[in-house]
Amino acid sequence: MSKEDLFRKIISHAKEYGFIFPSSEIYDGLSAVYDYGQNGVELKNNIRQYWWKSMVQMHENIVGIDSAIFMHPSIWKASGHVDAFNDPLIDNRDSKKRYRADILLEDYILKIEDKINKEVAKANKRFGENFDEKMYRETNPRVMRYLEEIEDVRTKMNETLGNDDLVGVKALIEELKIACPISGSRNWTDVRQFNLMFSTQMGSTSEGAEVIYLRPETAQGIFVNFLNVMKSGRMRVPFGIAQTGKAFRNEIVARQFIFRMREFEQMEMQFFVRPGEELKWFEYWKEERYKWLGTLGISEEKLRYHDHEKLAHYANAATDIEFDFPFGFRELEGIHSRTDFDLKAHQDLSGKKLQYFDPETNENYIPYVVETSIGMDRMFLAIFSNAYNEETLEDGSLRTVLNIPPILSPYKVAVLPLVRKDGMPEKAKEILDDLRFDFNCQYDDKDAIGRRYRRQDAIGTPYCVTIDTQTMEDNTVTIRERDSMKQERVDISMLSKIIGDRLKANIYRP
Ligand code: ATP
Repeated sequence: MSKEDLFRKIISHAKEYGFIFPSSEIYDGLSAVYDYGQNGVELKNNIRQYWWKSMVQMHENIVGIDSAIFMHPSIWKASGHVDAFNDPLIDNRDSKKRYRADILLEDYILKIEDKINKEVAKANKRFGENFDEKMYRETNPRVMRYLEEIEDVRTKMNETLGNDDLVGVKALIEELKIACPISGSRNWTDVRQFNLMFSTQMGSTSEGAEVIYLRPETAQGIFVNFLNVMKSGRMRVPFGIAQTGKAFRNEIVARQFIFRMREFEQMEMQFFVRPGEELKWFEYWKEERYKWLGTLGISEEKLRYHDHEKLAHYANAATDIEFDFPFGFRELEGIHSRTDFDLKAHQDLSGKKLQYFDPETNENYIPYVVETSIGMDRMFLAIFSNAYNEETLEDGSLRTVLNIPPILSPYKVAVLPLVRKDGMPEKAKEILDDLRFDFNCQYDDKDAIGRRYRRQDAIGTPYCVTIDTQTMEDNTVTIRERDSMKQERVDISMLSKIIGDRLKANIYRP
């Protein structure tokens, strides 16, 4: 199945099975805004809960907060968002479509990378077992030429974008002969900067109303609460503050389903450290976050680091963890060493001292910060696309299954009486009542048992408990496991323990 086909199927499966709906669909939708349906909200809550447990509850020196979405407008002045949270946009005069200039250039590079991958795949086929991919990439003249081209484009891109040289960015797009994917023409407007923050007004009268912003990231809510948390929690450096919540960005080009949305959710943690120790902690979090993704069944081949060569003005190290989405490798999570930029900026603008007294060194200082920032919706898409599988079974039939890590599955258990008589439904309800408090369960007694199993496979339920004639005789049931489809017979009294143990089998430990 091609990647485009896979992506299309994932989007329609998400809708058909109540995971994700386009927002305001009966009014033809609202661009780049989505709603989570009855199964989607469960999966999303479970991702959030797993992140929270891993980052907050499993670390003694990390606590969580939940700051408001509305914040004092000065916060966005201090953080640099008012002046510099811009994307360079460009319009195609023929198609009237708007693009992010940096993304047009990134896509150009991705196309060259695609060509390299095709060369490698061809050579792999030709040389078979003796193929040394690393050597081929380093010595094959055609691949080397492609790599040089990528290097050249990257250098020019970093130079022009880094210096806000918008004329240079346009010249580069022209030099590379990049055409609009829709009209095919190269009839471009000039490149302009566009601020991504949404604004609204607070206050009852139009004269007295103040312009405020919908937060474009959750991080600033953490920085402005640094002092409150440090004092009230008697926190000692190094320590972290985490939060999850909505963020809003007026993205120029929102596409690729829930990958780039205008209203989305972030899960962020700011880790405050002694100045000079930030790079050690940066390495630590880089590895931990990669490990965390691994506990959710995401294999090594689907993940990679992308270290930033061009650093934001406030950072002294930054990397993205990229995931192989159905449209290629893209950023899933960012890990940034943000120095003391944010706390210092807030200290300067607010006039409040945002410092820590270190009892070990007897010094006052503004802590340095290492941030981990993952998009909830991108994580949802990573889990969902990693889990979507179509299998041909031994009898030739097709099964669509979501191999979601059980700890994240919307429902953990489906309780299914084999038939709707002989006391089986009553027995099933008894079991359901017992399991329900600990696990999110479903009850289903409609249709043949095979079809019911398939329905559970399609929403990713890891365990089906079936009540049959033997249950009525000896109080045993079968547990069917989603991935292997194997069934085993167990005593009803053991169900809760068996399921609980399996759910915990592979969880993250710092
Ligand atoms: P991109 O380069 O893709 O625009 P970014 O570098 O601006 O992302 P950050 O500001 O580092 O992103 O935000 C942290 C995380 O928030 C990202 O890694 C991503 O998972 C998520 N995120 C950012 N923008 C969006 C969006 N528009 N829709 C969904 N998730 C987003």
